[in-house]
Amino acid sequence: MTNWNDAGLSVSSRSKRGSGAVLQALPTSIRSGRRIFSCTCPVEIGENIDKIGRYGYAQAMRFIMLIALFAAQIAWGGAVRVASLHPLLSEMARRVGGEDVEVVDLFPPHGELHRFEPGAQELAAAVRSRLILACGKGVEPYLGALREVFSAANPPVRVLELGDAAPEVMTPEGSLDPHWWNAPENMKRAAFGLALALSEELPEQQEAIRARLTAYAQAMDELTREARLALAHVPEERRTLVTEHAAMCHFCAAFRLHPIAVQGAAAEGEGDMASVAQLTRELRRRGVRRVYAELREAPRFLQNIAAAAGAEVGELSMDGVAPGQPTYETLFRNNLRAVCEGFLCEKK
Ligand SMILES: [Zn+2]
Repeated sequence: MTNWNDAGLSVSSRSKRGSGAVLQALPTSIRSGRRIFSCTCPVEIGENIDKIGRYGYAQAMRFIMLIALFAAQIAWGGAVRVASLHPLLSEMARRVGGEDVEVVDLFPPHGELHRFEPGAQELAAAVRSRLILACGKGVEPYLGALREVFSAANPPVRVLELGDAAPEVMTPEGSLDPHWWNAPENMKRAAFGLALALSEELPEQQEAIRARLTAYAQAMDELTREARLALAHVPEERRTLVTEHAAMCHFCAAFRLHPIAVQGAAAEGEGDMASVAQLTRELRRRGVRRVYAELREAPRFLQNIAAAAGAEVGELSMDGVAPGQPTYETLFRNNLRAVCEGFLCEKK
């Protein structure tokens, strides 16, 4: 049996779940040894779809037919098939699982994280998997329905909410920021949980999985070091990070920055003149030079608030789903560079 602590992967956690304890950093489903799914047959899967109400009848029937088709084709030897609901989790699975896993991306190439729901095709692909990787922390509001669908899968399919390993970080407004992947330390914690789950599926590959996990964890540690170094000399009065939506609180918590989310205070249809004026004054008082949109065209409300506060608009890949960023390191370094430039740019 692999001693995971020997891999040097015990987490220096600041989690509310308890600091330092490796087991505490694991997803709940893994800690409890809970097997989420029992098994029966494809017909029961179809019946469970009816319970969801989320998918239309035609979709449900199409799905049932797909299941019936795939049921005869499933072969459980060789690589473990892992379905992923987020590109960063897909990449993590490929790196930690190596040739021992076959990763299926369920998230579409140009999808929007907070609008995506898996359809019949994605569900059919997931049925052939042993593991489904989810972000958790409320990112996938359909997860309960997904579990319901797969409650009849045979053999069992486990849904792993890898974000369970990350600490809870609150936004300044007091809600939970689910974007845990924006801190490399959290990615390391999640990878540890993933590696344990893969090792349960592939016990004979434990050593190889552990070696790949060690390399992944070291890469995440390197990112943490780089970010601390890059941000070390930013003076306290400038350490405010203003974003379109509350998605960088884990990043801010990891690197001693102060997050402000514009959305909510000033989003179109939500903000009132008083709250917009208050936010503008606050950004001016803090000397904010750049505000950040997700990697797409900045919404009008963000452009307006930036103009009023004398700031420019930059971009960050906060949701982590933007195409063209082949690795987590690429994404994180691009974000870090943009944040550092924003602290240094001239005030408009
Ligand atoms: Zn988001």
